[in-house]
Amino acid sequence: MMAEFERPSPTIEDYLGVIYTLERDGERVIAARLVESLDVSAPTVNATLKRMQRDGWIMLNENKEIHLTQAGCIMAMSVIRRHMLTEWMLSRVLKLPLSELHREAHQIEHTLSPDVEERLLSEMQDPKFCPHGNPLPGFENETLKWLPLSMIKPGEKVQLQRIHENLESDYESLSFLEEKGLVRGCTLILKEVLNFNETMKVEVGGKEVVLGVRFAEKLFVSR
Ligand SMILES: [Zn+2]
Ligand SMILES: [Zn+2]
Repeated sequence: MMAEFERPSPTIEDYLGVIYTLERDGERVIAARLVESLDVSAPTVNATLKRMQRDGWIMLNENKEIHLTQAGCIMAMSVIRRHMLTEWMLSRVLKLPLSELHREAHQIEHTLSPDVEERLLSEMQDPKFCPHGNPLPGFENETLKWLPLSMIKPGEKVQLQRIHENLESDYESLSFLEEKGLVRGCTLILKEVLNFNETMKVEVGGKEVVLGVRFAEKLFVSR
């Protein structure tokens, strides 16, 4: 019984979540990638990875690629689900702005008991996505029908569905998107793409907004 409540430390949970998300996106997961994503030093990452390997959360292959074990995968899914449900709670109950949800949820997610997680899941009506449009574990396929905004042709009218996890912790980007009305569900029209400048101009709510093409790769839309 107690075993179900035994969780790794918040640090390990964070690593598990990041590894799961990188694997989901088909990226090669190596220590250097985690140094970048978690913004910690290489020696710290290596020491943590050793502990995670010892405790059976991850495996390292001969190319030093990191993979989650079954236990690691289950725990990663749990922490991501707790994170996303907390984002919904902060959004719906406390009405926090989109730009603050991720950071605040990040502090709370590790402390939710399985009972509260269950309760939140039903209170929030079994969401498939977080408030930013990222999939809860198990609903990844639901996002495959969406395209990066960078792949849309000028003149097309689309709906914003998802702001990728990579942008969630970037307060500046999210407040910019929020201020311009570029939130989940908004309709936008692609006006022009300036390839030489790597920018694109979109119209949202009757106003024009200029976005970098690289930035637009992290916004997903439906036609
Ligand atoms: Zn988040
Ligand atoms: Zn989110």
